[in-house]
Amino acid sequence: MGEITVKIQKIRIVGSGQMGSGIAQVLAQSGFQVILNDIKEEFVMKALEKISKMLDRDIEKCKRTVKEKDEILSRITISTNLEDAKDVEMVIEAATENKETKLNIFRKLDEMTSNHCILASNTSSLSIMEIAAVTKRPERVIGMHFFNPVPMMKLVEINRGMATSDETFMIVEDLAKDMKKVPVAVKDMPGFAVNRILVPMINEAIYTVYEGISTPEDIDKMMQLGANHPMGPIALADYIGLDTCLAIMEVLHEGFGGPKYRPCPLLRKYVEAGWLGVKTGRGFYEYK
Ligand code: NAD
Repeated sequence: MGEITVKIQKIRIVGSGQMGSGIAQVLAQSGFQVILNDIKEEFVMKALEKISKMLDRDIEKCKRTVKEKDEILSRITISTNLEDAKDVEMVIEAATENKETKLNIFRKLDEMTSNHCILASNTSSLSIMEIAAVTKRPERVIGMHFFNPVPMMKLVEINRGMATSDETFMIVEDLAKDMKKVPVAVKDMPGFAVNRILVPMINEAIYTVYEGISTPEDIDKMMQLGANHPMGPIALADYIGLDTCLAIMEVLHEGFGGPKYRPCPLLRKYVEAGWLGVKTGRGFYEYK
C-alpha cells in the first residue's frame, strides 16, 4: 500500500458534453467542488441546464429536496479556459474523442496545474500511456472511464498506464467509491475491456443495416427480445454518439489491425452528415 498524500476536494472537468456534465453532477452530489470547463460558455451553460433538469427529476420523484439541489449546483462553477486550472487536486478530461485534442489538453494541463495534481482521462479507447507521455508526470496520469448516463451507470473502468503509480490508482479508486461507483481495474489496451466488446457489436449491427439485412428498428427489437439486451445496439449507438463509436472503432482498427475492427462505411456516412445521435437530434433515429 502506497501512502496517500493528496486529498481530493476540488476537481476540474474539461469538456461539458454528455459525459462531462454527468461526471460534474455526480461529483457535486458527492460533495466535491467542481469547475466545469468547455471551449464556449454556451456549452457549459447548456450542461448546467441539463444538470438542473436532472436534479428536478429527482425532486419530482422525492429523491431530493430543493435545498439539496441548490447546494449541489452551488458546488459547480464554470470556466472557458484552462489558464485558471492551478488550484485543483485533480482534473478529469471528458472532451471529444480525438487524439490531438486530448494530447493538446494534457500538454496545457501539465503546464497549468500544480505538480501533485492528478490528470485523468475519460477516454473510451485512446492509450493512457500516449496521453501520459506528453506530460512531465506520467505517474499521475490515469484513465477514469465512466459510462453513459453517468448518474445511473455504476461502472468506472480504471485504466492504468504503464507509468501510473499505485498511489494515483488508489486515490482514483477511492474517488470512484466516494461517487458510489464500482471501480474495476483494466489494462491500458485499445478499447480497454467494455468498449472492445461492445463497440464491435454495435459496428456489426450497423453493417447489418448497411447490407440491407434488416432495419434499425428490427435489429434493436431482435437484440432486445432474442439476446435480452435492455436497449438495442443501434439505439445504444445513437445514445453513445456515432462520432464516439466511430472514433473507438478507428482506435481498435489501428491498435489490433484485423478486418473485424473495420468501421462500417454507413457509420462514417452518418458522422460525415453530422447525424451523431441523441446529442444532435438525429442519428439512426430522430429525437425531439
Ligand atoms: P460530447 O460530444 O457530448 O462532449 C464533448 C465536449 O468536449 C463538447 O462539449 C466539446 O465542446 C468539448 N471540447 C472539445 N474540445 C475541447 C477542449 N479543447 N477543451 C474543453 N472542451 C472541449 O462527447 P461525450 O459523449 O461527452 O464524450 C466525451 C468523452 O467521453 C470522449 O472521450 C468519449 O469517448 C468519452 N466517453 C463517452 C461515452 C458515451 O457514451 N458518450 C461513454 C464513456 C466515455
